[in-house]
Amino acid sequence: MIEKVVIANRSEIALRILRACHMLGIRTVALHSEADREAKYVRLSDESVCIGPAPAAESYLNIPAVISAAEVTDANAIHPGYGFLAENADFAERVEQSGFIFIGPRPETLRLMGDKISAIQAMKKSGVPCVPGSEGSLGDDGNENLRVAAKIGYPVLIKATAGGGGKGMRVVHTEATLLNAISLTRAEAAAAFGNDTVYMEKYLGNPRHIEFQVLADQHGNAIHLGERDCSLQRRHQKVVEESPAPGISDKLRRTIGERCAEACRNIDYRSAGTFEFLYEDGEFYFIEMNTRIQVEHPVTEMITGIDIVAEQLRIAAGEKLAYRQKDITISGHAIECRINAEDPSSFLPSPGCIVQYHQPGGPGIRVDSHIYNNYSVPPYYDSLIAKLIAHGDTRELAMARMRVALSEMVIEGIKTNIPMHEDIMSDAAFQAGGVNIHYLEKKLGL
Ligand code: ADP
Repeated sequence: MIEKVVIANRSEIALRILRACHMLGIRTVALHSEADREAKYVRLSDESVCIGPAPAAESYLNIPAVISAAEVTDANAIHPGYGFLAENADFAERVEQSGFIFIGPRPETLRLMGDKISAIQAMKKSGVPCVPGSEGSLGDDGNENLRVAAKIGYPVLIKATAGGGGKGMRVVHTEATLLNAISLTRAEAAAAFGNDTVYMEKYLGNPRHIEFQVLADQHGNAIHLGERDCSLQRRHQKVVEESPAPGISDKLRRTIGERCAEACRNIDYRSAGTFEFLYEDGEFYFIEMNTRIQVEHPVTEMITGIDIVAEQLRIAAGEKLAYRQKDITISGHAIECRINAEDPSSFLPSPGCIVQYHQPGGPGIRVDSHIYNNYSVPPYYDSLIAKLIAHGDTRELAMARMRVALSEMVIEGIKTNIPMHEDIMSDAAFQAGGVNIHYLEKKLGL
C-alpha cells in the first residue's frame, strides 16, 4: 500500500504527480527549494518540506535532504518525476535501503539501462533491433578500431557509454580522423561523466526519432502503449511530440512494441519506461531506454485513455497491471507543444513574472502547467513552463485544435516560444507528417 508520496521534483511534473496521487486517495509531500516556495503544487500538497536553496545541486539533487524529508513526514514512497534524481541508481538504492518504495524501476535496472553498452547488449538478447556498431566498448588498438569502422561503413558515431543529454558524441566521416575523434570523445567523456568508455555506431543521416511507451508490473507482465514521434528537436531537445507516428503501420507498431514488452519481461523491468529508436528507411534502431516518466507522456495518455502516472503508483504498490495488450486501443491523434520561457529567436531563457495568463481550452485541449497569474518563473531551472496537448479523431483535427489553442494562449511579462509553435503548426512539411530530426533546425536556419 502507498499512503503518502514524497514528490522529489518541481514544476508541471510535480503537479502532475500530485494530481495522480490525490485521485487515488494518496497523500502528498511536496519538496521544494527556497526559489519554489510559492509554487502551485506546494500550496496544493497535503504537506511540504523546503529541502534547500535555489541551486538544484543543493536542493532537488540533494539525496540526504530528500531521504530525510521522507523520514520526518512519515511518507512511504518517493516519486522522482523526470530529470534530477529520476535515473540515478544510487539514489533509488538509498531510497529502498531506507525503507521507502521507489516509484520507478529497480536500482539494478537503472544501472543496466543507464550504461548504453550494457543496455544495447540487453536489447539485442531480446531481439530489439539496434544500430549496427562495435560489439561493446572500443579498446586501445587503433588498427582494430579502424577495422570496426570500415566494417560498419562511414560515417560512424563515437558515443560515450555514460553519455546523456546529447553530450559525449562525435560524428566521423573519414578514416583519417577516426583515431583522433576516439581520443577526443574519450577525454570529453572522462571529464563530463567520469567514465571514458566509448563505443561506435553507424551514423544515420536522416532518421526520425520514434519511441515506444511501456508499462511493466512486478509480476512479469508488460505491455506497450504504442509510439510517439519526437523528431522535431533543437539541439537534441524535443520541441513537439505526437502519437501515433505518421506513416507507421499497425503491423510494424505491433512488431516493435511487442519486442519492447518482451525486453521488459527479460530484464525484469517494472514501472513506466520508454524505448527510444531512430527510424530510417522503414527500419527501427534502438538507441537508449529512458527508465522514468517522460515529459511527452500526455500524448500517449490522450490516445489510449490510460493515466500513466497512476499506473506507476499502482505498479509501485505491487498491483498487477490492470490491462493486457489486447485491451489497449489507439483512438485518434494527439500532439504536444512544449511551451518554454525563452526568447523565440535567440532561445535565451526568459525568466520573470507572468503578469497575464490566459489558458486555452475547448474540446480535445489539455494543459499541463504549474503557472498562474503573477507567478514568477525562477531563473535556476529548465525553461519548460507548460505543455499544451491537443487531441482529435484525426491528425488534421488535432493540428487545427492546436492552432486555435496556441492563438488563445496568452502569457505576458516574459517571452515564450509560442510564436515558433504557431509557425510549426502552419508548416507544410510538418502538416504532411514524417519530418526527420534535422528538419526543425534547418527550418529555423540553425
Ligand atoms: P542522449 O542520452 O545524450 O540523449 P541518445 O543516444 O539518445 O543520447 O542520442 C541523442 C540524439 O543523438 C538522438 O536523438 C539522435 O538525434 C542523435 N543520435 C544518436 N545516435 C545516433 C546515430 N547512430 N545516428 C544518428 N544520430 C544519432
